[in-house]
Amino acid sequence: MQHHQGRLEVICGCMFSGKSEELLRRVRRAKIAKQRVQIFKPSLDHRYGLGVVSSHDGHQSEAIAIESPLSLLDYLEDETTVVAIDEVQFFDPIVVDVCRHLMETRDMRVIVAGLDLDFRGEPFGAMPRLMAEAEEVDKLHAICVVSGEAATRSQRLVNGNPAHFNEPVIVIGAEEKYEARARSYHEVPGRPEPNLERNGNQVHKPNAPALYKHVLEYVLIDEERLQDRITELADEISSDYADDPDVILVGILKGSVMFMTDLMRRLTVPHVIDFMDVTSYGAGQRETSGNVRILMDLEMSITGRNVLIVEDIIDSGFTLDKVVNLLQARQPKSLKVCTLLNKQERREVPIKLDYVGFDIPNVFVFGYGLDLDQYYRNMPFIGVAKAEAAGQS
Ligand code: ADP
Repeated sequence: MQHHQGRLEVICGCMFSGKSEELLRRVRRAKIAKQRVQIFKPSLDHRYGLGVVSSHDGHQSEAIAIESPLSLLDYLEDETTVVAIDEVQFFDPIVVDVCRHLMETRDMRVIVAGLDLDFRGEPFGAMPRLMAEAEEVDKLHAICVVSGEAATRSQRLVNGNPAHFNEPVIVIGAEEKYEARARSYHEVPGRPEPNLERNGNQVHKPNAPALYKHVLEYVLIDEERLQDRITELADEISSDYADDPDVILVGILKGSVMFMTDLMRRLTVPHVIDFMDVTSYGAGQRETSGNVRILMDLEMSITGRNVLIVEDIIDSGFTLDKVVNLLQARQPKSLKVCTLLNKQERREVPIKLDYVGFDIPNVFVFGYGLDLDQYYRNMPFIGVAKAEAAGQS
């Protein structure tokens, strides 16, 4: 049997708990032991600029900022024996496989630091799996700024108020900050109560697990969060159109179907619905002249009427941009866009979005109308597809 020296150490905890400090301390000690250490971090963390890991107490060390955990392998030097990764919760879950490779194929000591819980108090990214795989897990505490007790939670405040459970990850134009807090002082309006009913509402176990289990990496937005947010969107739309209540909802096939039906069920403003099916060429290839072909046009005339485009997801924005221009030429009274999901990171054409359900990272999602090779549109949640399943479609 092959003997591996590799080991995984996880340093976790809330914000300000000293994770970066501890990571840097272990790195310093490894260097004293004449180990060759390389430090990595996700490039989306611009806190102190690229190229360094900094702790809140001012310690710094050089780090390589990478976008995907896989690029870590490109930067890996032959003599390296210890790899340290900070803010690991932001990485794609493939980071677990990268760590396994470092330990099992290259016999490395891997030290990762990351937030175990997000601002809602829910497990963050690949942290649960990393913690389960680790030889050693240290959960650090900060000091609760309200009570002075040990803090285990990161309180997110948007414009001074506790952020709602469904608050998008990026709130444009808002002032936000984080505080360390103990469990009893952690406020998350809208957080679902623990469900203790036997055979009750099994939000995390939708109807046909066998159907999707092999393609699902993790649930990004569960059924309850989706439905709560759609109710909020419907309330907002109903109130915005209250003074001029004649709206045509234009669903873009096929992905928007689930969202459209749940949204319209909750609208209190009179409306009609119509659908369009379009396909685009050159989308995502920086080809601004890319064509959109209409496979099925609207049945109704929209001239002089309020139009609300209902989309499932906005990615590069090419297709939507063309659809907006096309509909604008028909001279509607107003034209707005409502999307359930927004992948801002992928945007190549500026688009004005009037209603956004959730801002999501650049991951391959499916379910709730979105397909994986045309299947799985019936899943009641938005899931992230396993890399091999996403690659096939
Ligand atoms: P993390 O990486 O876990 O966010 P850092 O290692 O960057 O934490 O910073 C920890 C340092 O933050 C502490 O040593 C302390 O100087 C400072 N700090 C600021 N606020 C708090 C707090 N509420 N509780 C504990 N430490 C705090």
